[in-house]
Amino acid sequence: MDFEMHDTAEMAAFRKEVKDTFSQIIPKELIVSPYDEDVTPEQEAMRRKIGLELGAKGWLRPMWPKQYGGGGLSIDHAIVLEQEIDQYEITIPPYSDSGAGLGGPAIMVWANEEQKQTFLPKMATGEWASWQLLTEPHGGSDLASTKTTAIKDGDEYVLNGTKTFVGTTDTQPDWLWTITLTDPKGPRHQNLSWFVIPAGLPGIMIQPLDLLNGSGGAKCSVFFEDVRVPAFNLIGGENNGWKVAATHLELEHGGGGTVRGTRQVERFIEYCKTTAFNGETIASDPAVRDAIADILTDDNVATLFGLRNFWMSHSKKRMSYEGSQSSFFRKMGGLRKSGLMQQVLGYLAVTSDKAMAPGEGWVDSYMKSSIISVHPGGTQDVQRVIMARRMGIGRTAKEEAGQMPD
Ligand SMILES: Cc1cc2nc3c(=O)[nH]c(=O)nc-3n(C[C@H](O)[C@H](O)[C@H](O)COP(=O)(O)OP(=O)(O)OC[C@H]3O[C@@H](n4cnc5c(N)ncnc54)[C@H](O)[C@@H]3O)c2cc1C
Repeated sequence: MDFEMHDTAEMAAFRKEVKDTFSQIIPKELIVSPYDEDVTPEQEAMRRKIGLELGAKGWLRPMWPKQYGGGGLSIDHAIVLEQEIDQYEITIPPYSDSGAGLGGPAIMVWANEEQKQTFLPKMATGEWASWQLLTEPHGGSDLASTKTTAIKDGDEYVLNGTKTFVGTTDTQPDWLWTITLTDPKGPRHQNLSWFVIPAGLPGIMIQPLDLLNGSGGAKCSVFFEDVRVPAFNLIGGENNGWKVAATHLELEHGGGGTVRGTRQVERFIEYCKTTAFNGETIASDPAVRDAIADILTDDNVATLFGLRNFWMSHSKKRMSYEGSQSSFFRKMGGLRKSGLMQQVLGYLAVTSDKAMAPGEGWVDSYMKSSIISVHPGGTQDVQRVIMARRMGIGRTAKEEAGQMPD
């Protein structure tokens, strides 16, 4: 079976245009590194500038409708853009913008027209970078137990509470996309609401967290103390937040899929092929070749799940458990693959010293990030729970996937 994607004539012409443009707008000085200290404010500014240039061409959110600042382009164009920017080891957007990536589609489904006209173009052009704020200190898996309150006071809501493990110190946010408790006495799932919040409002404090990190900056806590947010910024109606959450979470749990690959496995294999001890390359050991075959198989299955979900979501196939299946496999696959790499390389796999770290530090970074990656977007346990509910296991009614934009 041929899983490769082949260009149509239109895609080939667009690919040429994209290649030419990227070679002009992506500076040679842009650093892609596993070392956090390499991501300086100047590097962050470079990424934001690339984002603005992509936004001006409609390539930052290529498939969003033109009237909301997107490119109005087809899936074929989006694939070309993703594949070509991947050559530079960056993504679209090239900076962290989790609020727009997950909140944007939720806003498209649930906001009124005036809100869409106000918020979406700022996200689509790169004028705003954003963080998504869901997790709270008492626990992230049970999102319905959100405790940050947003209490209506005239034309405003007053927010109090804490979100944690959010954002990244790599990208400073212009706005925040967050779920709150609007009816503290209301029934579970009917007491929540979402807000688009300017990050600079009085009473918002952002504090970096000191955690085990791979590349990608530090996570933060965000504190809200009597923060007054205009009622206009409430999305999807008061106490309707659980439905908005379903759209957001479907994407966060892998329902959108991906056409991107990962480079860390390639880097590990290259290191094994080119590094020799006692005159023999690491890869010449039959046991190492066995481990490499297992790692590659695992990695390819994850890629195929990503491709399948990309195809399903963009061709509007009805989805069920597929997002969480892909997320679960990636999370557990990361642990399996990093475990095998560690068996092969031993102490070297967890060495970050720039003089001797395998894969220029990426193998050590992968060891850390494969552990960290079990948590974001819901842990592996939560993915299991979702798959069971979508398949109707342990319940009388099957749970539906969240509503996606048209
Ligand atoms: C690198 C990173 C990036 C992140 N980015 C963001 C972000 O941008 N925005 C944001 O809001 N949050 C973010 N998070 C937080 C993430 O969403 C939470 O860590 C996650 O939802 C789990 O919540 P928790 O850590 O509080 O664990 P808990 O919810 O307290 O869970 C603890 C343990 O209990 C298990 N568990 C929980 N519920 C069940 C269940 N029903 N059945 C079986 N087992 C269960 C979990 O699997 C876990 O092992 C990020 C986390 C990390 C590590």
